[in-house]
Amino acid sequence: MNYEDVMNLAGRRGYFFRSAESYANTPAGFWDYGPLGVLFRNRYVDLWRRRLVKLDEMVEVDAALIMPREVFVASGHLASFSDPIVECSNCHSIYRADKVIEEKVKHIVPEGLKDSEYDSLLTENNIVCAKCKHPLTGAKRFNMMFRVGIGPLGEEAYLRPETCQGIFVDVPFLFKTQRIKLPKGFAQVGKSFRNEIAPRQGLIRLRELLQAEIEVLFNPERTDLPKFDVALDYQISVAQGDVEPSLIKVSEAIATGVVPNKLIGYYLYLVQSFYETLGIAKSAIRLRKLTELERAFYSKVAFDLEVRTSIGWLELVACNYRSDYDLRRHAEVSKTDFTVDDEGKKILPHIFELSMGVDRSLYALLENAYRSEGERTFLALKPSVAPVQVGVFPLMSKEGLPEEARKVYDSLKEEFEVLYDEGGSIGRRYARADEAGVPFCLTIDQETLREGTVTVRERDSKLQDKVRVQDLPEWLEARLR
Ligand SMILES: [Zn+2]
Repeated sequence: MNYEDVMNLAGRRGYFFRSAESYANTPAGFWDYGPLGVLFRNRYVDLWRRRLVKLDEMVEVDAALIMPREVFVASGHLASFSDPIVECSNCHSIYRADKVIEEKVKHIVPEGLKDSEYDSLLTENNIVCAKCKHPLTGAKRFNMMFRVGIGPLGEEAYLRPETCQGIFVDVPFLFKTQRIKLPKGFAQVGKSFRNEIAPRQGLIRLRELLQAEIEVLFNPERTDLPKFDVALDYQISVAQGDVEPSLIKVSEAIATGVVPNKLIGYYLYLVQSFYETLGIAKSAIRLRKLTELERAFYSKVAFDLEVRTSIGWLELVACNYRSDYDLRRHAEVSKTDFTVDDEGKKILPHIFELSMGVDRSLYALLENAYRSEGERTFLALKPSVAPVQVGVFPLMSKEGLPEEARKVYDSLKEEFEVLYDEGGSIGRRYARADEAGVPFCLTIDQETLREGTVTVRERDSKLQDKVRVQDLPEWLEARLR
């Protein structure tokens, strides 16, 4: 199994594909989701809501995609949301400085180096243009925000590069209108936009991406609440550096200073257990603690939740203790009061963030579920995660079977995601359903007409069972939970 196999399956089945593919000059980094992809993404977002937002009693917001210049002055994006780039002195190809060095030296090069440090690395390692072998210019900065003009005068504004700024600027409004007690999680799922220099790998690096972000506002003097105790015995997979993770109880991680407090331990537990619920094994997950060089200057501690894939450890979630930086900056620049009440005291909350890349999470889930056994390819997605939950097939397209199958399909389609297929041999229909990750397929045959039962075939084991038509909703419900 490798990256190409998974992307081929995704393309063949219409999970996702390059946007505007018919046009030769369409820029890279924009992808469309097809019918299966939309169902799959909805399933992910639905589980995110259940397992994180609802479980932790967070509230959800949906902020505007375009925000004025001043927001990004405050957030620091205008000054520093940039990638270091180098240019070929001959053919003018542009490369990302850290990536071009990484390719040569074969280990992680931090994004936070100074331009002069990149220059030294480029010289030390004799790095030249990959296309024409001429020397590269020194590193310079490229701001990755998409600028837009508002109204006829083209007032300066930007498409948001991350969803969280929308939450931060809404804090005074949210605390005024809602009854909120700290600590509180604010969640948002929505598009963000980044003008990446050379996005290549499918859903891994996009210019338009879907994020699911959670910003937990808290009083830094109250991080030890009874509600966090549920996490203490849970084993998280921690790696200090680019090494294999080791399992450590949250309580122990706090005691040894790997995790600074109970609140952060609890949210690391929530996010890791979420990915385990989606079907990723503990051993394939690591919470990599970032070094000071890798962290933003305002960040007190940060972990990347990464998942093992055929292209290496892939970052799916940035878990970042952002201190009071964001709210302090928005208060300063907007000249608005961002303090909130906590047990009778006015405080400026600190923030712990869980920022999930939805698109790359979906890629990781597909790869994790990809199975190839001889002629057979299937996606062993957990029934609760599969985009389509049940297939309905008439054994033959005659003798009243399609009509009976339609009846079964109609009785299920409101409650479940159901695929109806009467094309080709039953074997071919199973094969198509397997590639779509459909966990259960129902065959309608003569026995259905005679005795009111259908044959249910389970995807991974291929085992078959008989279920009465009238029991189907309950039978499915029990297995999809
Ligand atoms: Zn060149």
